[in-house]
Amino acid sequence: MHSFHYRNGVLHCEDADLEALAAQHGTPLYVYSAATIRDHYRRLDQALHGIDHLICYAVKANSNPAVLRLLAQEGAGFDIVSGGELHLVRAAGGEAGKCTFAGVGKTKAEIAYALEHGVHSFNVESEAELEAISEVAKETGRVAPFAVRVNPDVGAGGHKFITTGKSENKFGIGLERVEQVYADAARLGGLRPVGVQMHIGSQITEAGPFALAVERMLPLVQRLKAAYDLEFFSIGGGIGIMYQSSLASGDNEWWHRRDVGAQPALTLEGYAAAVAPLLRGLGVRILLEPGRLLVGNAGVLLTRVLYRKTTPAKRFVIVDAGMNDLIRPALYSSYHEIVPVHQRAADAMRESADVVGPVCESGDFFAQARELPVTQSGELLALMSAGAYGFVMASNYNTRPHPAEVLVSGAQAAVVRERQTMDDLTRGTHLPAWL
Ligand SMILES: *Cc1c(COP(=O)(O)O)cnc(C)c1O
Repeated sequence: MHSFHYRNGVLHCEDADLEALAAQHGTPLYVYSAATIRDHYRRLDQALHGIDHLICYAVKANSNPAVLRLLAQEGAGFDIVSGGELHLVRAAGGEAGKCTFAGVGKTKAEIAYALEHGVHSFNVESEAELEAISEVAKETGRVAPFAVRVNPDVGAGGHKFITTGKSENKFGIGLERVEQVYADAARLGGLRPVGVQMHIGSQITEAGPFALAVERMLPLVQRLKAAYDLEFFSIGGGIGIMYQSSLASGDNEWWHRRDVGAQPALTLEGYAAAVAPLLRGLGVRILLEPGRLLVGNAGVLLTRVLYRKTTPAKRFVIVDAGMNDLIRPALYSSYHEIVPVHQRAADAMRESADVVGPVCESGDFFAQARELPVTQSGELLALMSAGAYGFVMASNYNTRPHPAEVLVSGAQAAVVRERQTMDDLTRGTHLPAWL
């Protein structure tokens, strides 16, 4: 579900009027719905009822501290990929003991920081990394809990850049080598095997690859459990969401339907139903690492139309958000629904246009040759499904300040990150005295 709907002709996030929020806080502006995040978390939790599990939210999808606090309050753990993410989780009130530390390039400083605060486990991606963790643990007199990330060689994911579970990807260790790695760990010292992990990709919109990967892993999980008394099996994240909707045509109910657009049907409950029977009775705790699923449809990016421009070949709608604010279309050719915040009549005039930002790159677009209602300069648009991999990838390219973020709960709205100021753009820079 999500909580964006038209009310009295104006798009709302829960009970908050988005035109009013944009007027108050300026644009571009990210707006998140707390109710949507909670609903997704609780539904996933409920769908796994009867299976011992821990949902470790993948912080990289959206690391705003208010989002982290909300999920910590729900009881979530966290999947982190850097020392910085651990710092944010702790600052937001999350427990290090519920953090799994993933990523192919952990530095020794990050490993030491994570050990010091007692992370749940290190998800190890190579033998060399395991050696580094062992060294740091021995140096500091600690024992590092670890799980090996297994690459089950299952191809899945919405784009070649977000497929991670194939043998040619940089992630994980091949099924055939995994048991040797656990055996070597005992020799290295300072290590305690606590689990085994996999993650096959992102924006996967069918249950099949998840079930296939779990099935491939099961014999290994059982052998490792027998050998090392493992506590958990993490099945990763990667559950896809709906990006294509019919909200644009005034249909407020699109998120209940799973047959819209080109994407095959995968509901949160469908995902759980596909994997739960395989996991029941395994005798280990199941960890999940959803990112996009929890926050993707919980956020929008509000942007104002600056200018319209027509060339002999094309019509452009130039908006005040750019690829530095939301890079997904440029990076992954990803689709974001674009809707006017002021609702149009079903028979309102439409046109085909490219929606582009102000950044000096031809890749700076949000939609190309998209059928949209005719929009005027000054008008407010919402880029839908921008809650995951949105703000977290924002940059200062073209020396544009980072946008602000607002969290809504019911009729309450709070700025959870301020817009950067001109001063922020020079902070930390220095002009050498010899210049
Ligand atoms: C990115 C990532 C996730 C989350 O992926 P989503 O597609 O956002 O669910 C989970 N686990 C690992 C190891 C990741 O790298």
